[in-house]
Amino acid sequence: MGQAADIIIHNARILTMDEASPVAQAIAIAGNRILAVGDDAEIQALGTSATRIVDAAGATVMPGFNEAHMHIFGGSVGLGELSLFQLKGFDALKAKVRDYAAKNPELPLLVAQSADYTILSEEERVTRHHLDRIIPDRPFLMFSPDHHTAWANTIALEKAGILHGRDVGVGNEIVMGDDGLATGELRESNAIRPVSGMSATGGREGLGVGTGGDPNHVTPEERAGDIEVIKRGLAYCASHGITSLQNMDGSLYQLEMLQEIEDTTGLPVRVRMPYHMKNFMPLSDLQEKAAVWRERFDSDKLRCDFVKMFMDGVTEGETAVFVDDYSHKPGWKGEPLFSAEHFNRVAVEADRLGLPIAVHAIGDGAVRMVLDGYDAAQQENGRSDRRNRIEHIEVVHPDDVARFAATGTIASMQPTHPPGSAGLPLEPYLTYIGRERWPHAFAWKALKDAGATVVFSTDWPVSPLPPLSCIRDAMTRKPWADDMPDHRLTLEETLTAYTRTGAWVEFMEDRKGMLKPGYLVDVVILSADIHSVSHEAIADIPVRMTICDGRITHEAA
Ligand SMILES: [Zn+2]
Repeated sequence: MGQAADIIIHNARILTMDEASPVAQAIAIAGNRILAVGDDAEIQALGTSATRIVDAAGATVMPGFNEAHMHIFGGSVGLGELSLFQLKGFDALKAKVRDYAAKNPELPLLVAQSADYTILSEEERVTRHHLDRIIPDRPFLMFSPDHHTAWANTIALEKAGILHGRDVGVGNEIVMGDDGLATGELRESNAIRPVSGMSATGGREGLGVGTGGDPNHVTPEERAGDIEVIKRGLAYCASHGITSLQNMDGSLYQLEMLQEIEDTTGLPVRVRMPYHMKNFMPLSDLQEKAAVWRERFDSDKLRCDFVKMFMDGVTEGETAVFVDDYSHKPGWKGEPLFSAEHFNRVAVEADRLGLPIAVHAIGDGAVRMVLDGYDAAQQENGRSDRRNRIEHIEVVHPDDVARFAATGTIASMQPTHPPGSAGLPLEPYLTYIGRERWPHAFAWKALKDAGATVVFSTDWPVSPLPPLSCIRDAMTRKPWADDMPDHRLTLEETLTAYTRTGAWVEFMEDRKGMLKPGYLVDVVILSADIHSVSHEAIADIPVRMTICDGRITHEAA
C-alpha cells in the first residue's frame, strides 16, 4: 500500500509541462511532494477519508508561475501608493493626486507609481511647475513605470536639498533648467534617492536595486513594518498563482527579513535573490560577500546564488547604451555603467567562483558588452553550465542574436514592456530608437528561433504583476508597423517560459517547474481551461487556488 494523498485535484486539464507526459486529469499530493499524476480513476484510488478533494471542474491546473525578474520590496510598498497606471492628462493627474493627498494627510512624502513618460501629452515633458500646480505645499514624487526616472515638485526638491542641483555620478542626472534650478526630472537612483528617502519607509525599498547596499539605521518598529509590507506583497504574488519569484534586489536586509518570515510564518512563495555588484565595489566582494551569502541562504524556499549587475539605464531616460547614436540625438549613444575591461574582470571572477550573472542591458550596445564579458569568462575559465542571463534586451543588434545560443546566455525578457503593450505609450521610445532599430526591439521570437533560452517576467512593479496578463501580452503583441516582424509566441512556448524554464534558470529543474511524481508541490489551479478562451481573455481568468511547497497559499473566496 502506497502513501496516502493529503490533497487530490481531479477533473482537471492538467498541463504538466513535462514533455514525456504533457497532459493528465488528476494529481495527488502528499506533504510537499507530488505523489502521482494520472487519470481520475487511478488518482482517486490514492485518497482516504482525510484527503481533501478538489474538483477542478475542467479548468487548467499547472505548475505555479515563476516570476523570473521582479522587485518584491518595492512592489510591496507600491501596493499602498498611488497608481497612475494608464492615466492620461493634467486634469486626471491633478484629481488623482489631490484625492490621494487628502486621504493620506500624515505621509511625509506622497509617492505615485507608473506615470508614463507622456502622462501630460506626447510633446510635453513633466516639470516641477506642472506638479506645483497640482500640489504646491506637500512633497510629491512620481515614478515612471520603469523606475529609472522620477519627477518631484519644488518643495520636494527643496527639502531634499537638490533644487540647485548636485553631482550624482555617471549615468545619473538631476536635470537642470535654463533658470539654473532643477526641472523636477530625476534620472536614475542616485538622483531620485534624496527625495525618495523622505518617504514613510525612508526609501529602504529602493536600496537593494539602487545601491546594492542596506539601510544604516533601522529601528525594530521600522523593520517590523517592513516585514508586514513584504508579507502583503508575497500574499499578492500568491493570489496571482506565483509560487517562485526571483527578486532582483541584492540586499542582505531583505534576505534577512525573508529568512525571518520563513522561520516564523513560512514563505508563501519561494524566493531567489542575487548579490548586487555595483561598479564601485571591489572585485573581492564576489568571494567575500556573494559566495558567503550563497552558503548562508541555500534552501529550496530562499536562496541567494547569483550576481546582478547593471550595464546601462533606460531608453526613455537616454541612459540606455546603443551601438549607434540615439535617433533624436546625434552624437549620443549612452554611457555604460562598467567599462568593458572592468565588466570582463567581474564576469571572469564570478564565473571562476561558480556564480551565475544576470545583467540589466537595455540597449544593443550594453547587450553586446555583456555578451563580450561572458565570452571572456569562457575563454579564461573554459565553458561550463553557468546559465548567465541578460535582463530586458530591449534592442539586440542583428549580429548578436546568434551569440545568445553560442554562449549559452539566457534572454530574460518582459512581454509587458514593449511600448504599445500593457497600456504603455509608443513615444518617446519609437522616435528615440528610430525605425531602423524597430525590427530588433523586444525580439524574443528572433532570439528564441536562434536557439536562445527565453524566460519571462514582468519586472514588477515596473509592469503589473499578474502572470496571466503577461502571458496574454506575449501572445498578442502587435507589430509597430505592417512590415515589422511578428513576435507572438504560442501558448505552450509562453507557459514554458513562465514555469519550466524559470526553474531551469534557477538550477532547480530536477524538482520544480513541472508536475511529476517526486517534484515539489508548486501548483496553480485556474478557474477556466486556458485552451478554451481567446488569447485576449487569458488575462481575465481568475486564479482559483495556489499551492506552494504543499501549502495552500491562496484560495479564491
Ligand atoms: Zn528590474
